[in-house]
Amino acid sequence: MRFYSTNSPDVTVSIQQALFHSLPADKGLYMPDHIPDLGPDFFKQIAGDSLADIGFQVSKALFGAEIADADLEELTHSALSFETPVVALEPGKLAVLELFHGPSLAFKDVGARYMAGLMSYFSKNSDSEVHILVATSGDTGGAVAMGFHNVPGVRVSILYPSGRVSDLQEKQLTTLGGNIQAFEVDGSFDDCQALVKQAFLDTELNSRLALSSANSINIFRLIPQGFYYVSAFGQVSHIHKPVVFSTPSGNFGNLSAGVLVQHMGLPVHHFVAATNINHVVPDYLSTGHYIPKESVSTISNAMDVGAPSNFVRLKHLFGDSLELISSQMSGCFFDDEQTKSGMQAIYQQYGYISCPHTAIGIMGLQQFQAQHKTDTCGIALATAHPSKFKPLVEDVLTVEVDVPERLAILSERVKQSIRIPAQFDAFKESLLKTI
Ligand SMILES: *Cc1c(COP(=O)(O)O)cnc(C)c1O
Repeated sequence: MRFYSTNSPDVTVSIQQALFHSLPADKGLYMPDHIPDLGPDFFKQIAGDSLADIGFQVSKALFGAEIADADLEELTHSALSFETPVVALEPGKLAVLELFHGPSLAFKDVGARYMAGLMSYFSKNSDSEVHILVATSGDTGGAVAMGFHNVPGVRVSILYPSGRVSDLQEKQLTTLGGNIQAFEVDGSFDDCQALVKQAFLDTELNSRLALSSANSINIFRLIPQGFYYVSAFGQVSHIHKPVVFSTPSGNFGNLSAGVLVQHMGLPVHHFVAATNINHVVPDYLSTGHYIPKESVSTISNAMDVGAPSNFVRLKHLFGDSLELISSQMSGCFFDDEQTKSGMQAIYQQYGYISCPHTAIGIMGLQQFQAQHKTDTCGIALATAHPSKFKPLVEDVLTVEVDVPERLAILSERVKQSIRIPAQFDAFKESLLKTI
């Protein structure tokens, strides 16, 4: 399998190139040059299979020629060591696909862990370590740190803005140790991003370290996210109804992953693109005009994106045809007040505690089903565990939200970070000291 850039479809690169250099030089986005059709029988056989088994089978169809079966199987099983269960709210009609059973309690674990496994595999025979640099405003850093922790051949330096991430997020970044180093920057998230960008341009750093990024637009974070759509389908196929997925979206990587596996033959009846008031994609779907905007802060802050980085990819998957995309996908959006009432209604009606992002996905599905006569099996993607937004969820629902053990134990661990001013020379000096 090779990859082309959406800006130059005639030029292709290897897996390694797309994996270690997330972004093509022409500023397009990498896409697989061939999307295999798994065939209808494949999707009939997967009921009861684990996420890891499904991940292995789909990976094999994609990369089987490049990675030996045994290696691919090991890689997939160690990355996908948890399940993504479909939990019914209204049996046969409305369900959530819980994607938060991984170490950082959010769906980003799936992509981060799989990408980490691939990077480790492809750097196995090189004598230099790959050095990942990542700037985080909170969530992504946790998934990346935990995904790469103890992965051989890879070191990770994470930059985060001091005092601007939640306590638990900070613990996720700063208590792992080993191959994970946290830099606590006296500045904003934008400052952290600027330091990372400058590092990639610095000749000396690049000569001494094999720098790479774990950017969310990396195609290898997106591909494994398709596996749980397949797993979800396997869990509901006995219902024999057309399946609708509703994906709470920000940068639209998660939704693009669903469309990618639809292209591999997954029988999806319809997609719902559910957002908060950062609704440039729902606007595009209803008007045909794409107008990126400054992002607006909301309570579903992991979706506060005004210029989604995967929009080009999403459109590209539909051959840039508005007619095609809008026949397969509907948009909807909810403001903070609607999100809070939605969380309350979901709790009252189904006894289900949802994070604000997940609530938006469920509401999107309810809206779609109310507007369409076809009797569908709706699955909303539950993107984070409610305890990641504990104060908000407890305030809105007036219930206590339990923090899962694997997150709770972090609060007792001791934070270890290197505190630096938001200046490149200071960062460079302390980064070189860590190696
Ligand atoms: C990142 C994130 C999203 C948005 O996912 P995209 O792939 O960027 O669309 C939604 N919910 C949660 C909890 C997230 O962390």
